[in-house]
Amino acid sequence: MRQIIAGNWKMFGQLSGVTAYAEAIRTAPPHVDVIICPPFTLLDRFATALHGSPVALGAQDCHATTQGAHTGDISAPQIAETGAKYVILGHSERRADHGETNADVHAKTLAALAAGLIPIVCVGETEAQRDAGEAEHVVRTQLTHSLPENFAGVVAYEPVWAIGTGRTPTESDVTAMHAAIRAALVAQLGSAGKTTAILYGGSVKPNNAASLLSLPEVGGALVGGASLKPEDLLAIAAAAPQD
Ligand code: PEP
Repeated sequence: MRQIIAGNWKMFGQLSGVTAYAEAIRTAPPHVDVIICPPFTLLDRFATALHGSPVALGAQDCHATTQGAHTGDISAPQIAETGAKYVILGHSERRADHGETNADVHAKTLAALAAGLIPIVCVGETEAQRDAGEAEHVVRTQLTHSLPENFAGVVAYEPVWAIGTGRTPTESDVTAMHAAIRAALVAQLGSAGKTTAILYGGSVKPNNAASLLSLPEVGGALVGGASLKPEDLLAIAAAAPQD
């Protein structure tokens, strides 16, 4: 399967930087699917700047309902209207900053699917949970309660302690967790779970991308900090193995 390299800009970036970034990222290698997930305010400008390019757009969250009295929130249909095709859901920063639960992520995932968006659902353990030997249990529980029966999207395994820290799990820990996620997806979703892409996220950089992306059941990367520089995201994309 083609690998997916998704850039999560978090709350960085301004309109003035979009055109130059989009021009640079258009040169992404054709053997991977590249997705840029900027803040909501940049989606429309990005959609124009990326017109005609294979690079796809995504948002970083959506509300669980289509419209209503929810000040400050954005719905999945509103995201789809910008031309975005993906939405990141349940990122650990949303779970920590906004108290999002697995039930919230489940409801948002249903909303995204109903709007025709492809959800990228994030799961991952904290350092304390890993130290306590609970990492796989935590991630399995997140999957069970975050993914609806009709899930058709992408899963991103992001150990919380690896996000933005420069630290990554060992190759054998990534391999073990991705195998556990694959088994959980097949048990939960049946044959659809066999092909669900499982991204790794957490301090992916140009210098570690090739080894992380070559591990079994790693279907690509969710990239935070390094995605802000197009040359770094391009280097990560170039490091992804071919089909
Ligand atoms: C992320 O924000 O999803 C992420 C993985 O961040 P970073 O690559 O900066 O660790």
